[in-house]
Amino acid sequence: MDCIFCKIIKGEIPSKKVYEDENLYAFYDIEPTAPTHVLVVPKKHIASILDITPDDAPLMGKIMLGIKKIAKQLGLSEDGFRVVTNTGPYGGQTVFHIHFHILGGQMLGKMG
Ligand code: 5GP
Ligand code: ZN
Repeated sequence: MDCIFCKIIKGEIPSKKVYEDENLYAFYDIEPTAPTHVLVVPKKHIASILDITPDDAPLMGKIMLGIKKIAKQLGLSEDGFRVVTNTGPYGGQTVFHIHFHILGGQMLGKMG
């Protein structure tokens, strides 16, 4: 499958790794839009929120716990941060392997 993030997870495309475990991989976004901009992806290829199945529910919980751990590791937990998952064309999704943007390091503006 021709998926950039699957290639990053496999190490076929280089990335600046922030965190890895059995289920998750996290790395710095190549075009950051905040002082800290990290992408958290499940190793399982799921195209978007619209493709999550009930079987993926435990994995989704692990992603949230992973985000908490990664945010602490990045020193974001005191000031706070934002987590964003763009979905489909109106959501501005450009890579169709589900991912969670962690954005922090400055006061962020209103969404939308
Ligand atoms: P989306 O627009 O789908 O929500 O987010 C995709 C993100 O992936 C974008 O912020 C983009 O900068 C990032 N991105 C795309 N290709 C690469 C890549 O090859 N390496 C890294 N580190 N980030 C990428
Ligand atoms: Zn993928």
